[in-house]
Amino acid sequence: MDYDKYRKLLVDKIESSFAQWDTKKFVNESELYAFLHTLKGTAGTIGLNDLAEFCTAHLEILSPDDESGIPVSSLKNFKKNIRLLIDGNKKKSREIMVPEVYANHFDQETFILIIDDDLEFVSFVKELLEHLGAQVLVAMNGTRGIQLFYDMQPNMVMIDLHLPDMTGLEVFEKICDTVASRQVVSILMSSDNSNEAVSRAYQAGLMDFIKKPLELELFLPYLFNRDKLRKGISQSITTDGLTGVGNRKRLDEILKYSERLNQRSGAPFSVIMMDLDHFKNVNDTYGHQTGDEVLIAFSKIALAEKRETDYIFRYGGEEFVLLLTGDQEEANVFVERLRETFNQLVFEDGDRSFSVTFSAGITQYEGELSKLLLEADQALYQAKRTGRNRNVLFDKDLVQVKRKLQVIIVDDDLLIRKMLEEELTGWNLPDIELSVKLFEDGVSFLAADWYDPDTHFIILLDGIMPVMDGLEVLERLKRRTDANNILVSMMTARTSEEDIKSALWLGADDYLMKPFQKNEILSRIQNLASRLF
Ligand code: GH3
Ligand code: MG
Ligand code: MG
Repeated sequence: MDYDKYRKLLVDKIESSFAQWDTKKFVNESELYAFLHTLKGTAGTIGLNDLAEFCTAHLEILSPDDESGIPVSSLKNFKKNIRLLIDGNKKKSREIMVPEVYANHFDQETFILIIDDDLEFVSFVKELLEHLGAQVLVAMNGTRGIQLFYDMQPNMVMIDLHLPDMTGLEVFEKICDTVASRQVVSILMSSDNSNEAVSRAYQAGLMDFIKKPLELELFLPYLFNRDKLRKGISQSITTDGLTGVGNRKRLDEILKYSERLNQRSGAPFSVIMMDLDHFKNVNDTYGHQTGDEVLIAFSKIALAEKRETDYIFRYGGEEFVLLLTGDQEEANVFVERLRETFNQLVFEDGDRSFSVTFSAGITQYEGELSKLLLEADQALYQAKRTGRNRNVLFDKDLVQVKRKLQVIIVDDDLLIRKMLEEELTGWNLPDIELSVKLFEDGVSFLAADWYDPDTHFIILLDGIMPVMDGLEVLERLKRRTDANNILVSMMTARTSEEDIKSALWLGADDYLMKPFQKNEILSRIQNLASRLF
């Protein structure tokens, strides 16, 4: 079949669009998107495959519903390339010529945002950098660039000096605090590399200035150097000092990165929260130094067992998080293997020896990043409740076991006891099962059998009571236990700073001045509860 006739028709249509654009200063991004979308369909149908490919690459950058204007003057190369491709000139003008040594030089963690309205330039650089293994985002104007910067959190940003809606320096001004605090590599690009322009960029705080057009033999090695520097800094501030695994900051980054990867390639991933069992006993029996050795040994085993695409983080004290590629069933198999290896480990302390177990909660990503850690934590909680040294898979259909919170009021004043009880029993806390217990003096409180390791306690302790003073009750309570599921708030009518100081010194976690407002009590208890959970 002879496509010539159709090609001529297509050329006419394209040229009339071009002519129409030339009558105005700007073309809407959505208009350009529609143009390329139609062109792609037609070109593919009549055998202009290179042109269709060209359209695909550009469509990735444009947004179908963005009404911002792209200057017609910046479309010169764009138009030229379309004409070349339609002429049957098969020599791809956009062929990426990168020396083999550079292939996949970045990994997908390198995440670059380019803010530039030159469609031809950005589509070339995007393809180039993606070819090298990076993830690339493009914004065609300053406003969208700033928005993408905050939404997507890239770790490098390349900004053109001249943008349709503002200057590159103005864009930088709006993001510079975050750029500095997150160690983002920032680059200003312009064809004007006069000393004055470069100096202004540096004064504004940009890390680098690059002259357009890019010279690849300089640009690429430069970019690799910067990426290496960035990774080094990022690693040093995102590593846990004791164990060498990632810290929470690193976990945050990797969670976001895994979500992006999932959105691009559909790769499933799971999050596992692990907590060593009865670790307090290890510390109490063998000392903190031995405890530390256990934490280090656990990290070492997890690092050795995990695949290269998996990650391990220290989430807090003796809590670790694993992020694994694969669904939660696969994660379950992995954690079982980890458990077997870890349980077999024997720790020596003089002539005593012992081993340690851990519990794990497992969940998988289902489109909502913010829920992952909560779900894993809920599953972990069930693993603890059902006997420890086991995995529990999160199941959203399962009614979640609520965390138990008991507020104990120790006060000789009946009115206060009753008022607080009434206030608290009507209080509805999501995901928490609340109970209230009352004692009219410290002696009966200390003698009673209220403690349960699976419940969290907030104890409101009156300062002045007959028989035994509140401070003494506090002292005895603290002597008896340093359990971290108990928080104590002293209620005191005494405004004396000395009493508050003694209470805090004896280990009170908070204090309340009598007389108090009802709603003040609830918000203080809520604050304390958030420390417990
Ligand atoms: P469970 O089985 O319910 O998890 O009991 P547990 O004793 O492990 O849990 P709990 O959370 O009550 O105690 C954790 C202990 O971990 C308390 C704290 O002293 C200890 N810990 C936290 N960070 C470190 C650390 O860096 N080194 C050492 N040696 N101990 C730590
Ligand atoms: Mg523990
Ligand atoms: Mg713990």
